[in-house]
Amino acid sequence: MAKLNWGIVGGGEGSQIGLAHRMCSALDDKFIFKAGAMDIDPVRGKDYGVRLGLEASRAYGSWQEMLEAESQREDRLDLVTIATPNATHFEITKAFMESGFHVLCEKPMTMTLDEAKEIVALQKSTGQICAVNYGYSGYPMVRQMRDMVEQGQLGKVRSFVAEFSHGFHADAADADNPRVRWRYDPRQAGVSAQFADCGIHALHLASFVLGQNPQKLSADFAACVDGRELEDDALLALRMDKGAVGRLWSSSIAIGRMHGLTLQVFGEKGGLRWAQEQPNQLYWNPINQSVQILERGQNGLSAASGDASRLTIGHAEGAPVAFANIYKSIAKDIEARKAGSPLGEAEVAYPTAFDGMVSMAAIDAAAKSAKHESAWTALDY
Ligand code: NAD
Repeated sequence: MAKLNWGIVGGGEGSQIGLAHRMCSALDDKFIFKAGAMDIDPVRGKDYGVRLGLEASRAYGSWQEMLEAESQREDRLDLVTIATPNATHFEITKAFMESGFHVLCEKPMTMTLDEAKEIVALQKSTGQICAVNYGYSGYPMVRQMRDMVEQGQLGKVRSFVAEFSHGFHADAADADNPRVRWRYDPRQAGVSAQFADCGIHALHLASFVLGQNPQKLSADFAACVDGRELEDDALLALRMDKGAVGRLWSSSIAIGRMHGLTLQVFGEKGGLRWAQEQPNQLYWNPINQSVQILERGQNGLSAASGDASRLTIGHAEGAPVAFANIYKSIAKDIEARKAGSPLGEAEVAYPTAFDGMVSMAAIDAAAKSAKHESAWTALDY
């Protein structure tokens, strides 16, 4: 199969996430970098694109210019990644999808739940791929957890505990630091700060592993650093749509926590424990037996885990490699469509617009619940 043409909006020089997308789209030799509108500054964006090896005619000054020119080409892009700041995701994703492009959008997919519903409706009406980069779901041992739950090894899943906490916004002296301040400003960040930025990764991970979506939740949001309008610490209780109970904590003031994304799943026949900072090990405790440590790459793991594992056993897994599995899954879908046999729903392993919408519904409900003394609030989707 010929390589797939790939382009990016955003991810310019010095951006946090641009390199990760270029590396991960290239890792499996499926996608070839062909076009970009990479920077808010047109000159800087074009210059950077050319330096990265784009033809000058496909290094664009704006996403509008890119959309118009790429729409006319016979060798048009197979996938466009949107890696711009949050507030622009909706408009750009919508415009590319309406012109027939498949899209991988950075999270959060939109700023509001209504926008997210519009993207899901658009995805359904166009049939285009709209993936969302919940990259942590690409870890091999996360996929192993999902398979163990699906195969019934845990029996009925009773509950989960998820966390995503760090301590890097704990310094009150950072109040005026422009890289931190906007995150807690509702005019720029929307209705939630820490839950929308980090907690939502933990919630998506739990949904992915359990095969259950959140149905209702109770949220306690706190702005612990004086002067912040939005929460820097969030605690949620959740009820999932197939009965599991969830507890989720996300904080940016937890000094001593680094990048603490963890998931514990408790079923009637056993429990699983995984932490992103030690991604190669999955702790599996069958009921009334000793705990077992499953190692990424060992014999006997699920096929999906093996497929996502591309380092020899014992080598540290990297987050970019997990992101690459999102690209790999999208490539599989695009190739299947090109071959005339689209994947079935169960075979789609990348997070979709629906997941992006559920996240927005959770953020919306959490913000409402937190405003009303943590009242139980149904998700509206
Ligand atoms: P950043 O501020 O470091 O970089 C943003 C880039 O987009 C810059 O190069 C900027 O010039 C460019 N840009 C801005 N507006 C643009 C426009 N209209 N057209 C073209 N380019 C434009 O931001 P970042 O940290 O790289 O984050 C980008 C997105 O990625 C955010 O939505 C963020 O939430 C998301 N993100 C996701 C993860 C993840 O784990 N999935 C991790 C980090 C960031």
